[in-house]
Amino acid sequence: MLLDVVNMTGNPRKSGLSRSVQQSSSDTAHDGGAAVSELRSSGDEGGVIPVLSPVADTPVVSARLAALVDDAVPERTRIAYAADWRRWEAWCARHGVRSLPARPQDVAEYLAEYGAGIEEGRTRPHAASTLERWVVGIDAMHRRHRLPTLGRDDLVKKTLSGVRRRQARDSSMPRVRRARPLELHELRLMLQAIQTTKYPAGVAALRDTALLLCGFAAGRRRSEIAAATIGDLAWHAHDGFHWRIPVSKTDQDGAGLTTVLWRGRHVATCPPCALTWWLQLRAVLASAAGAPPGRDETLLTAATRSRLVGRRQRIAALWFLHHHRRALTADKPERHVCRTPPSWRAALGAPPIDVAVPDLPLALGAGDPLFVTVHRGGRVGDAISGEVVTDILIRARTAAKLPTAGYSAHSLRAGFVTAADRGGATVMEIQQQTGHRTHESVAVYRRRYSPADGNAVTKLGL
Ligand SMILES: [Zn+2]
Repeated sequence: MLLDVVNMTGNPRKSGLSRSVQQSSSDTAHDGGAAVSELRSSGDEGGVIPVLSPVADTPVVSARLAALVDDAVPERTRIAYAADWRRWEAWCARHGVRSLPARPQDVAEYLAEYGAGIEEGRTRPHAASTLERWVVGIDAMHRRHRLPTLGRDDLVKKTLSGVRRRQARDSSMPRVRRARPLELHELRLMLQAIQTTKYPAGVAALRDTALLLCGFAAGRRRSEIAAATIGDLAWHAHDGFHWRIPVSKTDQDGAGLTTVLWRGRHVATCPPCALTWWLQLRAVLASAAGAPPGRDETLLTAATRSRLVGRRQRIAALWFLHHHRRALTADKPERHVCRTPPSWRAALGAPPIDVAVPDLPLALGAGDPLFVTVHRGGRVGDAISGEVVTDILIRARTAAKLPTAGYSAHSLRAGFVTAADRGGATVMEIQQQTGHRTHESVAVYRRRYSPADGNAVTKLGL
């Protein structure tokens, strides 16, 4: 909450918002109620939040406005800033200096103490990247109070730079670890290694194939893969599938990003095909969970019903995997199942150009998670967590006898950028799918993993 952040100044005289919200929450008895919704703009266009002016006659904001302003900053960032600010205030209290507005020399001393010295209870200094975040947090608080920021101050900048250099030389400091990118040929080996139509492993294999292919092809983060729902997907006659990412890390304005799961040339590495198989299996399992027509199972005990559902789902999955096996070994193994919208029971009328997956006759709800846990017995559970994405990737690498050190769920996104770059995609084309905001964030991948791509050294003619 922004309120917490502002309250952390600990001094209501400095914090217009905290005082005003206290007023509004205490039913405004002292102000006759009129002040609660009274807003005041200071007329300065430079600041984002004019109502947070620290001027003496503090403006008063409504709780509704406070909540709205609060929403402008992502929650995780707010929490981090709040904790950082508490640390800074505690340091200031110990040293008898003012926290707001802060003096550059105090901030620099603060950074030096934690970046060069070792805090009690720790074995090494705080990383330079952590100190940078602290400065960003202190600056954010100053901006909110329309005070000059310190991040660009020469002394603060030089202190940070000194800490960074010293830590770079210090072998005891942990290096920034980036996930190694998944290579396309590795992905092929992994998919081959995990493929099975046996029960129950075949259930997890269909999920893992869809997850790895979709995560790689869309260049998604693990949190986005874990949070994906059926309602985020639409089948498209030309494009394959559209996968909407509701709100991503770089898109805090909530506009969302539509990624495309483009049809692959080969069935084995076709993301829409893998997704179609997985959606159909999910539909079959979902329909097996319901009572058969004409049978009332409401009077059964929960345990009996769970057993019955388990048995029905098992039979349904066995039958589905058998069907899948026949499709794989048919005369035309290169037949894409992604050309028509996934459906199971009812036939669709005239083929649509595009259709939202919840509208397909699959009996899957818009809010149902796309990727779910698969229990050892083959039963499916709730939505997976981000860690499971890493587990799936590591398991598939192990199955393909590929090294696992340095690989994590982020290898899917890193792999997409690296493969696309190598394939000749422009930075803009990569950004179109990944949603990276800056050229620089894409260029980092190239410098680290494929320094020869786009490098003049390949054009010397040696
Ligand atoms: Zn396909």
